[in-house]
Amino acid sequence: MSNPSTTTIERPEEVTEDQRQDDTPKFFHYVKKNQIVESAVEGKFVVALCGETFPVTKQAKPGSPVCPDCEQIYQGLRKK
Ligand SMILES: [Zn+2]
Repeated sequence: MSNPSTTTIERPEEVTEDQRQDDTPKFFHYVKKNQIVESAVEGKFVVALCGETFPVTKQAKPGSPVCPDCEQIYQGLRKK
């Protein structure tokens, strides 16, 4: 009954571009406006207040929560 020819072929998982797109921010990050413009024009990454870097094309969807780190820093900046 046993079939010794049964082999388990371990196939390496192919990582597609889609699966690698987990760097899309789940939060809204606060980014300086001039950086957004610069990034949109030159395709640069923007640096959020919390230090998160991401391309402008990967903005969080509307309704996403604001990054708590950015929020805290932003509030701190406003108090100055
Ligand atoms: Zn942030």
